[in-house]
Amino acid sequence: MNRIIPIETKVKVMQESICLSNVEAVAASYEVSVGVVYYWFNEKVKPALGEILKNEPPGPEPKPDQEVKETQAIVERPDVCERCGSIRVRKNGTYEVINWIWLLTIGWLVGLQKVVIQRWRCADCGHELATVERQRQAEARRAWWQQVKRLIGLSRFKLGLSVRKTQILVAFAYGRQVSVGFIQRQTQSIGRRAQSVLERLSDCRQKVAHFLLYDETFPKLGRRAYSLGVVICEYGLIRSVRTIRRKAKDIPDQLRKVVGEHYHPEHFLTDLEVTYGEYLARAGLLLKHLRDIVHLMRQIGRMFDDAVKEVTLDVPKGLSQKERQNQRHLKQRLLRKRLKPLLTTAFKAFAPGYESVCVLMLEGVVSQLRDPKLILQTESVQRLARRMERFVKKHSPAINTLLEMAVKEGTPKTTNSLESKNGLFKPFSRIAKSFRLATAWGFFAGVALMENFDLKSRGLHQGTSAIQRAAVNLDDLGATDFFSAVGLDKPQISPTTFTL
Ligand SMILES: [Zn+2]
Repeated sequence: MNRIIPIETKVKVMQESICLSNVEAVAASYEVSVGVVYYWFNEKVKPALGEILKNEPPGPEPKPDQEVKETQAIVERPDVCERCGSIRVRKNGTYEVINWIWLLTIGWLVGLQKVVIQRWRCADCGHELATVERQRQAEARRAWWQQVKRLIGLSRFKLGLSVRKTQILVAFAYGRQVSVGFIQRQTQSIGRRAQSVLERLSDCRQKVAHFLLYDETFPKLGRRAYSLGVVICEYGLIRSVRTIRRKAKDIPDQLRKVVGEHYHPEHFLTDLEVTYGEYLARAGLLLKHLRDIVHLMRQIGRMFDDAVKEVTLDVPKGLSQKERQNQRHLKQRLLRKRLKPLLTTAFKAFAPGYESVCVLMLEGVVSQLRDPKLILQTESVQRLARRMERFVKKHSPAINTLLEMAVKEGTPKTTNSLESKNGLFKPFSRIAKSFRLATAWGFFAGVALMENFDLKSRGLHQGTSAIQRAAVNLDDLGATDFFSAVGLDKPQISPTTFTL
């Protein structure tokens, strides 16, 4: 039935079928001459019949110079219908899709390209068959999106780039733009997952950690009134970050949640902020509260400074204001000079090698301050001696514990490691400024998780990550790196996707 009719036959059939009937009446009604009608028929229509009746390949004309170039997919005829088993598989038109394989592999070079896919249909049941090409493209599409999501994670949580800059990066590296909304949603979703990974840390088997170091950081957050509470252990593992708005409620809550089956430290190390001890008690935790020695030393330095500042004059009145000022400065200089060796001793007490005698040395400083042979017992000196005595009494048990542990177990004496972690969050706070409280929390959690998996390329912990130092069991955690932890593993590609 699909017999091929020769073109000459077609032309003859048409010539005989088109008969010029009623030419005079038609010409008259359109006000044209009869002669011109015969001229059109003999000179124009008849010669064109052959061209018109020739067989043309179906489908639209190829469009010249399209913006998106297309390539023809390899046409592989499926052998059998996967639904009914029939072998009567027919071509059923073509359609275009983005060439995901190219976009994934050389998108940076070729940009967005399209590929024409042949559709196949079962002649018996009408089922559309999944061709190899369609499957390859679908796999490449999933891989492309996965890799773009990973890049967004890297850009936002490691490089600290804004949404717009991330957009530029994706287009540059992967040849196709993604929307601002997509990047924002992706950031939030990674943040939420990171938050839940941090919460799971204490459920994983790990090396015993004795310390809970706590500090708040105040990233520049515009007018937003919240701080960021950070918990790490002596291995430098960030175990919790949390946006703190109501300290009395949020800090105890954070402390309670960070402790778990495999993380139950005995020591709580903070700066001298007085409320932390109270928050610890409110969290229902029985940890020994220790103070960071840097802050203790800073506090001692401040007391000595105050003593110098508080110097009073007992000179007769009537002296000019300027003269009084000069006398006072002179007296302050003298006192500073007198106090200097005592302050040096107090600082030296905290130096390595003096751990066992630290408190004794501080007590020695107090008695020297009270020795009239050493130092003139002015009002400000007496006050300094009283303050120092109270300070030593208050902190000596904690100082002894802290230093003894540092010697025996190599545990931290300072919250320096914590403060350097806090420094890590500062560059990200510019981005977090635009977030709502809950979202900002997740965002900082993402930054923290990235840092936990970061292999240090220099410094004391070169070549290790905090997760490794704390020996967190990765099977328990269910992740081997930041990306797998937030559900963004490297895309899996079957080798056939790239074979041509
Ligand atoms: Zn079928």
